[in-house]
Amino acid sequence: MKRRDFIKLSLTAGFGAAVPPVFLGAYPFRDSLAVEPPGGKISVSPTVCNMCFWKCSGFVHKKGETLWKIIGNEDDLHCQGRLCTRGTGGIGAYTDPDRLTTPMMRVEVNGQQTFKPVSWDEALSYISERLTVIKDKHGADRVAMFTHGDGAAHFRHLLKAFGSDSDSHPSYAQCRGPRDMGFELTFGEGVGSPDRTDMSNARCIVLIGSHIGENLHNAQVQTFTRALENGATVITVDPRFSVAASKSQHWLPIKPGTDIALLLAWMNVLINEDLFDRDYVAQYTTGFDELSSYIQPFTPEWAYTETGIDPDTIRTTARAMGQASPATVVHPGRHVTWYGDDTQRSRAIAILNALLGSWGRKGGFYQPERVKLPKFPVPPYPKAKSSWRDFTQTKYPLAHHAVTNTIIDASRGEDAHYKGWIVYGTNLPMTIPGIRGELQEAIDQQELVVVIDVQPAEITGYADIILPECTYLERFDPIRNSPERAPSLALRAPAMEPLGDSKPGWWIAKQLGERLGLSEYFPWNDYSEVLDWQLQQVGSSLEEMQELGHKRFPRTTPLYFAKGEARRFRTPSGKIELSSPTLASHGFDPMPAYTPPDPVPDGYLRLNYGRVAAHTFGRTQNNPLLYELAPENVVWINPLIASEKQIRSGDYVRLQNPDGITSNRVRVRVTERIRPDSVYLPHGFGHTDKRLSLAYGKGADGSALMTRPAIDPVMGGTGMRTNFVTILTEEA
Ligand code: SF4
Repeated sequence: MKRRDFIKLSLTAGFGAAVPPVFLGAYPFRDSLAVEPPGGKISVSPTVCNMCFWKCSGFVHKKGETLWKIIGNEDDLHCQGRLCTRGTGGIGAYTDPDRLTTPMMRVEVNGQQTFKPVSWDEALSYISERLTVIKDKHGADRVAMFTHGDGAAHFRHLLKAFGSDSDSHPSYAQCRGPRDMGFELTFGEGVGSPDRTDMSNARCIVLIGSHIGENLHNAQVQTFTRALENGATVITVDPRFSVAASKSQHWLPIKPGTDIALLLAWMNVLINEDLFDRDYVAQYTTGFDELSSYIQPFTPEWAYTETGIDPDTIRTTARAMGQASPATVVHPGRHVTWYGDDTQRSRAIAILNALLGSWGRKGGFYQPERVKLPKFPVPPYPKAKSSWRDFTQTKYPLAHHAVTNTIIDASRGEDAHYKGWIVYGTNLPMTIPGIRGELQEAIDQQELVVVIDVQPAEITGYADIILPECTYLERFDPIRNSPERAPSLALRAPAMEPLGDSKPGWWIAKQLGERLGLSEYFPWNDYSEVLDWQLQQVGSSLEEMQELGHKRFPRTTPLYFAKGEARRFRTPSGKIELSSPTLASHGFDPMPAYTPPDPVPDGYLRLNYGRVAAHTFGRTQNNPLLYELAPENVVWINPLIASEKQIRSGDYVRLQNPDGITSNRVRVRVTERIRPDSVYLPHGFGHTDKRLSLAYGKGADGSALMTRPAIDPVMGGTGMRTNFVTILTEEA
C-alpha cells in the first residue's frame, strides 16, 4: 500500500450530514430562483460572487432562514446589475447536499485507509503539530501551497507568517500566465482582471480563440453585446464556429496552432499598407524598424499555406482593424495556454494592439484604477530561507509567479525540497494535465497534505486532513478592490450561518496561526474588524458597506491617454517594446516567432476544448441548479468524421489518446461548426470522485487525455492543445 492511497469519500464518512432537509428534495431547486419561499421576513446581504473569478457584486435575499435569490448590484461595473447563470445558481453551492461539512482525518482501519470525522480541535492540532515538525526538521520554507480564488488570501497570509513564500496558483501556468507575460514584456503591465478592454466603445473587435458568450465573464459579455448593437465589426478566429463566431462579420476557421502566422501576416498588411497608427508608434514605441523588416516575409500568401485562411480575407480583416484604429481591440484572451508558444502569441497580440494605437485609447484598452486601500497592520513577514524562485526561475527566468509544475517537481524524488502541502480551492488532478504520475508521486512523498475546500473533489481523496470551508454565502472575505474604469470596493458578507461544522477561511487560518505561535499576525477576534478598519481608512465603514455592498471612488488619473501626452511605460526602455531586449537577453526570440504545429497523426483528431456557459472549470458540475442546466459535456464531431465512423448525434463514444488513455463515455454532437481535423470537448466533466453524487461519471474528462502538453519555454505555461484523440464507438 502506498503511504497515501486515494480514498473515495463515502456517504457514511460524515459529509453533508447537516444539510437541512429542505434542501434534500422538499425544496424545488429548479424553481428556487423564481419562486418566493413561503413565510418569513425578507433580509438582504451584500456578496461578491465566487462562482468564478470575475467577482461580481450582488445581494443575497433570504426569507426567514431560507435562501431565496442572488441578484446583481446595479452600481457594479463587473456585472452592471446582472449576474450570469452561475452567479444566480450560487444558491446551489450552499444547497449542494454533497458539500463538506466536517473536518476529516485519514486513518487506517484493518489495513485500509479511510477518513474519519474529527473535531476542529483535533484537526487543527494535528496540522499544527505536523507543520511544526516539518519546520524543525527541514525549515518552514519547505511547505508549499496551491491555491485558487480570493479566499486564498487568508492562507497566503498564514504561509508567509509561517516562513514560506511558495504559493502557486494554477491560474498562472495553466491559464493566463502567457498573456500577462506577453503584455508585460510589451507595455510594461498586464491586462489585469477584469480585462481592461474598452469593448463598448470599440469599432472593431478581434477574438482569437476567445469564446465570449460561452465564457460568461459578465461585464465583458455585456460590453461585447453593446459593441454589436453599435455596429462594431467583429472578427473571430477559431477552428470552431463558436457563439462569438456566429455574431461576427468575419469567421476565420484557422488551422489549429497557426495563430502566430496569421498575426504576423496582419502586421505585414498594416505596416506595408500604412494602416498602422504612425504617430502613436513614433511617440510611444521602440523597435519599429526591426519589426518592420522582420514581418516582410510573412505575407498573406505565406500565411495562407500555414493557416488555411485565404489572403484576401487576411487583407480585408487587417484593413478593417486599421480603419477602426485606435478603437480596435485585439482581445488578449484569458485562458491562453495552448501550444507551448503562448507567450510569443500573446506578444504578437500585444504588438498588433500597439501598431493600432489601441493601448490606453478609447475603444481599445482603458487605464484601470483601484482604491488605495491600506493593509491591516501586522508585523513584517519573516524572510523565507528558500523561495519558489529557486525552482521556477531557474527554469523559467521570466516567470513572475510560482509555476505549479515546478513546485510539484520540487516535491518529489529523493531530494524533494517540499515536505508539506496545503491545497486551497483547487482540484490539482483535473487542473494540471500531463503530470498525473508525478503529482501522485509528489503527494505520496509529503509528510503532510492538507486540503481546504467547500466540496469533495479528486484532490480531497489524497489529503491527510480535509478542512471544510463554508461557502462564500456564509463568510466574510477580503474586500474586492479590482482595477476598473472606476475605482471601487465591494463587500462579501455572510448571508447564512455556516452549514454543519464548516468554517470561514479566515477563522481556519487564524486558528492555525495561533496554534503555530503566530498570533501577532492575527491581532483581531473576528475578520469583520479587519474589514471595518480598512474601510475606515478610506472614509467608509463596514456598516456602510453592509448597506451598499459596492462603493465607487473618484478617479485620480484619466481613463485614456490624452492626445500626444508624454508617457513613460514600465518597460526597461520606458517605451512600448515592439522588439523585446528582455527576451533577447534571456536567449529568446525578441520578435514573435512562429513554429508550425505538429501534424495530426494518422487516424487521430486534434483535441480542442473550451467551456459551457453553465459551469466554471470542474468546480460547479455538482451544483444542483447548474447540473440541471448542463449535466454532462458533449463532444463535437464534424459530419465527415461522423459518417466515416457511422456515428450520429446523441450516440455515446469514448475518446482515446495515442498513449492509450481512454475517456469515460461522452455523447456526440455532429456539427459542421468544427473542422474535420479536430474534435471539441468542453472541460470540467467526467469526475471520478463518487462523493460528487450528481457529477460522478458524467461526461468525459478532457484533461486526462492531455498527456502531452507543450511547455512554454518563457514562463512555464502548460500548452494543452497539443493532444490528439481517436474516437471509439461504444461497441468497440
Ligand atoms: Fe459570478 Fe457570473 Fe460574475 Fe462569475 S461572471 S462572478 S459566475 S456572476
